Amino acid sequence: MTEIKRVGFIGLGNMGGPMCGHLARAGFEVTAYDLDAGALARAVDAGALAGASSVDCARGADAVITMLPAPPHVEQVLLADGVIAAMEPGSVSIDMSTSSTAVGARVAAAAHERGVDVLDAPVAGQNIGAQAGTLAIYVGGNEAVFERAQPLFAAVGDPARIFHMGPHGAGYTIKVLLNLKWFIESVATGEILTVGVRAGVPLDRLYRALVGSPANSNFLERDVRPVLESGDYDEAFPMRLVTKDLGLAVDLARDVGVPVELTGLVEQIHRRARVAYGDDAGEISAIRLYEDLAGVELRLPAEDLD
Ligand code: NAD
Repeated sequence: MTEIKRVGFIGLGNMGGPMCGHLARAGFEVTAYDLDAGALARAVDAGALAGASSVDCARGADAVITMLPAPPHVEQVLLADGVIAAMEPGSVSIDMSTSSTAVGARVAAAAHERGVDVLDAPVAGQNIGAQAGTLAIYVGGNEAVFERAQPLFAAVGDPARIFHMGPHGAGYTIKVLLNLKWFIESVATGEILTVGVRAGVPLDRLYRALVGSPANSNFLERDVRPVLESGDYDEAFPMRLVTKDLGLAVDLARDVGVPVELTGLVEQIHRRARVAYGDDAGEISAIRLYEDLAGVELRLPAEDLD
């Protein structure tokens, strides 16, 4: 297998923009494309060449990375727009979006016919991790292809958290499940804190008791704190993507035949929060829903939290 030098990068948003910059600075010859001309201009400033289209990024590339919002965009770019069809046999298509195994399977079938390898490699770590080049990466696909793509992953990820998870699709599955767990925790925390406060328990006592108990979690101890400290619901990850990921979790469960009543309910609560506060509202907006329903503002200044 030849070394990867020429890279196409499609999707230069909150995540893809900084990732593309890291690859260019690491010495890869990157041709980038996004429908948004401003995003493309920023990638060129960061060292990439401007592609005229998605297909333009694919021609002659050793690897094409996609970092797109959701499965329909991935299917559009890789299949309908013709990126896979334009790729050279022996090159590799790496989808780093949080997407579905169903679209992944259709892409893999088309890639197989063309002699193109595929990896699914969704990430965790948000825009801050993308900027810092410290993303966690969950990779599915052939292990030799994973090894070949390691220099790309090392340029955008934390080397200690680049994981080969199994066959193609395993990365998507794990990413969707770990987001699901976190979104369940968000709803659970909103319910528990508002009930406790309405029941007359001071929030600082309630919070400390929970953190010091077997009911503690990373969400409670760390992730909810911006909400408590300053009403920051974390707009770095918008509700339009939260509900997309929860829809993927419900679809995945249905596809494998597992009834998931809790997941269905949690999805609907986040959908209600999206309707109430908007597509771009922060990812912890489900807690705001409980605050508004109960007429409680869950606020604790930082000095009262420790
Ligand atoms: P984003 O909406 O900021 O960026 C997506 C980019 O894709 C946009 O610039 C858009 O113009 C471009 N695009 C859409 N359709 C296109 C097309 N047909 N051709 C070319 N470009 C197209 O999204 P993001 O926050 O960068 O997230 C990307 C993926 O990463 C999503 O699947 C998301 O779930 C996942 N993710 C995001 C975060 C986060 O914190 N934002 C964290 C982990 C994973």
